[in-house]
Amino acid sequence: MVIGLGRFGGAVALTLERMGHEVLGADTDPELVHEFAPQLTKVVEADCTNAASLKGLGVEDFEAAVVAIGTDIEASVLTVLALSDLGMTNIWAKATNDKHARILERTGATHVVFPEQRMGERVAHLLNGRLIDFIGFGDEFAIARLKAPEAIVGLPLMTSDCRKKFAVTVVGVKRGSEDFIHAVPDTLVFPDDELVVSGRIADIERFSAMN
Ligand code: ADP
Repeated sequence: MVIGLGRFGGAVALTLERMGHEVLGADTDPELVHEFAPQLTKVVEADCTNAASLKGLGVEDFEAAVVAIGTDIEASVLTVLALSDLGMTNIWAKATNDKHARILERTGATHVVFPEQRMGERVAHLLNGRLIDFIGFGDEFAIARLKAPEAIVGLPLMTSDCRKKFAVTVVGVKRGSEDFIHAVPDTLVFPDDELVVSGRIADIERFSAMN
């Protein structure tokens, strides 16, 4: 069940549906309900702060609820509270700031996500132009996709010894239009190869600049 079919909720709902799940989308906005109706299993116009409306939608039959209301914090919190009162134990909620997140956790959200902040961090790491993609995991740890630094081009991974020299682990290698392959010690790195590496953010940034 995805409550709030704005940019974030809409993307969550469509992706779940494409993955083969049955998705009920709910929003107070009739235009969004109309837009999503052909694309989701079911779409309803409902104010989900109201426990009675939620009960009428059969909340107890759903495996998970995503509360994707960000701007209207009161509506977001009341919806999480109503879901929790109705016994839903797998509630994912979008927060716009730390205080909002704390209230969501107290009212019963089991997973709180910060899509705007996460995307902001990601763009900042991509802006320097060396990283092609980046996912941070908190505690300074990340996985990134980057063009192979010159320092390791022409060498098998066991010789370039990235883990010892640069404190990063090469997880995968992609050459041209081929698929990513898992990196093994004798994988030879070619110029223009792309790598997927894991490690501390500062070490990944340093590694990406190794020319
Ligand atoms: P985004 O930035 O992802 O578009 P918004 O917070 O702007 O997020 O959008 C949230 C969506 O949630 C809007 O489409 C809004 O109509 C919907 N919404 C707001 N309050 C409720 C509610 N009480 N019940 C159901 N949907 C709601």
